[in-house]
Amino acid sequence: MQLRIFFKSFPETSKCPSCGKIGTIRRSRSKNFFESAIKSAGFANLFKCRECGWRGILRKYSVNRYSFITLFFYGLLIISVAYVITQVLKNNFGE
Ligand SMILES: [Zn+2]
Repeated sequence: MQLRIFFKSFPETSKCPSCGKIGTIRRSRSKNFFESAIKSAGFANLFKCRECGWRGILRKYSVNRYSFITLFFYGLLIISVAYVITQVLKNNFGE
């Protein structure tokens, strides 16, 4: 079982959203304040396609179906821990 929710994605090796070619995407420099703000937030980067000239923002991290399973187990864990704590409190401090 894996415990990570976010997975690092590698846009450099993925398909271009515009022309669909693989391996043509390169990192691009930010041209304005908005783009540099996105970059400094750390979750996304600017990319550019060498083939078709597409330019845009791609996330550095992605979630997959295992993320939801992991989140579900974390939720179950929190609920069961909360349940145990309330039971212990009731047994010790209840009427
Ligand atoms: Zn392209």
